Amino acid sequence: MLAERFLNPRVAVFALAVVACQVYAEQAGTPAWIDATATLDSATTPVYEGDAPMRFAFLKDMRRGDPLTLSVFSLGAHSGTHVDAPMHFLVDGAPVDRIALDALIGPARVIQIADSVQAIDAVELNRHQWRGAERLLFRTRSTARRWMSSAVFHRDFAYIAPDAAQLLVDAGVKLVGIDYISAEQFGAPAPRTHRIILGRGTPIVEGLDLSDAPGGDYDLIVLPMKVRGHEGAPARAILRRR
Ligand SMILES: [Zn+2]
Repeated sequence: MLAERFLNPRVAVFALAVVACQVYAEQAGTPAWIDATATLDSATTPVYEGDAPMRFAFLKDMRRGDPLTLSVFSLGAHSGTHVDAPMHFLVDGAPVDRIALDALIGPARVIQIADSVQAIDAVELNRHQWRGAERLLFRTRSTARRWMSSAVFHRDFAYIAPDAAQLLVDAGVKLVGIDYISAEQFGAPAPRTHRIILGRGTPIVEGLDLSDAPGGDYDLIVLPMKVRGHEGAPARAILRRR
């Protein structure tokens, strides 16, 4: 019976179209993971003014005839995409190896901030639909200018102002992220934004590369290297559209 129907060319074309639609729907139903991590490369990764230089070297290299390839890295804990633990600005704050995984994995909202905005203050924050989001990542001028893949350190990156930081922690946000190597205004007289956010035990992700993640809702996984007793560490951050 079925074979007879497929002998009719019009039915066969229809059946093929149905199968194609199902395949498309399956692909559309499982969005791909997006890498939101800046690639660590001393030629293209910015280093915060005054921070340690980044060095990557090969101790042994099969391309030069060695029997194996073996590298050594030397870099600041806050290099590239990284997580700040409470210990960064609180004497008795939790180190990076003690941050709860629950804060680092789960739903996150990317908020698009206009290129003209440098200070994400309470007024700017409230222009956006941020309430109800468990984790918030700010996609700013720094992403538009691809500053996480330029070795030049820019001082005029967009930052989270203390009044916005206060709103975020008061709302119980579990994690805050930004797309340049600090969430704090460059040259701020005191690290108030860091103290407010980290003071609630909330980790901050800095140096995200949100080029491929426009505003919207995502699942986030950001996992810093587990270095015992230190205040921060480089991390891999990935996003998937919800
Ligand atoms: Zn940091």
